[in-house]
Amino acid sequence: MNALILLGHGARDPAWAGPLMKARETLTREHPALAVEPAFLEFMPPALEEAVSMLAARGAARITVVPVFLAQGGHLKNGLSERLDAIRRRHPGCALRLAPVAGEAPEVIAAIATHAAHAAAQADIALETPEPRPGKVWLVGAGPGDPALLTLKAARLIALADAIVYDHLVGDGILALARSGTEIVYAGKEASRHTLPQAQINAMLVALAKRHATVVRLKGGDPFIFGRGGEEIEALSAEGIPFGIVPGITAASGCAASAGFPLTHRNYARMLTLATGHLKNGSVELDWPALARARQTVVFYMGVAASGEISRQLIAHGLPADTPVAVVRQGTLDSQAALFTRLDEFPSRLREANITPPALIVVGNVVRLNRTPHKTRDCEQPPL
Ligand code: SAH
Repeated sequence: MNALILLGHGARDPAWAGPLMKARETLTREHPALAVEPAFLEFMPPALEEAVSMLAARGAARITVVPVFLAQGGHLKNGLSERLDAIRRRHPGCALRLAPVAGEAPEVIAAIATHAAHAAAQADIALETPEPRPGKVWLVGAGPGDPALLTLKAARLIALADAIVYDHLVGDGILALARSGTEIVYAGKEASRHTLPQAQINAMLVALAKRHATVVRLKGGDPFIFGRGGEEIEALSAEGIPFGIVPGITAASGCAASAGFPLTHRNYARMLTLATGHLKNGSVELDWPALARARQTVVFYMGVAASGEISRQLIAHGLPADTPVAVVRQGTLDSQAALFTRLDEFPSRLREANITPPALIVVGNVVRLNRTPHKTRDCEQPPL
């Protein structure tokens, strides 16, 4: 036979043992095969020793002593285990085990909290649960690739984030700044291979903000330059989710710096245009007469696939065929490749050199000024 002893403190007034006796009644009703006896440490009979003798006499082979107190007091730490040892010696045929104090059980702790809340409600203390506050989503520019070109704010947010949603332009060197335990989600986005549709990314940001305090949406370059940051803040504000924006060094600045030419110049370019070469229904829908105007620099993002059309249209609209062109692939990274060529030749040169995205196409006389710079790495501080 297996048995339980419900061990209470005891009191001079037997009525105080009421809750313990009720628990015994419930146990006996629900588990008829189990022998359940009360026992008390003070004043009330039976004492622990008597309860064990009683159950041993009834043939109990295993007895578990369950202290029905909320906290482990001095009597449990010192006296009780010695007292149990002495009882064990008297009943060698009976396995006697001490269970944890009732108050340590999670159910009891939960019940105490419910009980206290109930008491508070009865005392007219308002208990409405506040609306859960959503976290904040940070649209963070990760810069062109080199982690040392992150802003301090970006590096801090990456290290702090509970969740990071990044796209394919964000390199491992940057993700390595995240702490362990951060939920890291790849949202992808490569020309003609969109891993997640934008609507799904927006929905994911909203869902993550409901679960986490700090969500970082990490984007290559600057989030507001061909980064669809505008669509994301629209989706976030429609859901009432607070957001912040951290600008990043855009590919045009990063590539020009690491390939060594300026984007504007008093004599060659008094205007700078950033254009997307992304194909829409197989063609680049751009204002070609405006882009072919002299004395400006035109930078094409996502333009590799459209290089033939870019070259043809600019020449057709009046730019000289020998206008200098730079194509920079993986600018600022160790794997950077830069090609210096001219407007009529760059599509074939690009193919020969096997330049694939991500690459930036820069058209204009500023490219002529290129000089090989020292790598930014030469002046790097220890890692951020
Ligand atoms: N928000 C980004 C641009 C995203 S569009 C920014 O501000 O830079 C993606 C395009 O950016 C690529 O197709 C490529 O044209 C360009 N790009 C981004 N990083 C680059 C890099 N390190 N080197 C060359 N081009 C890059």
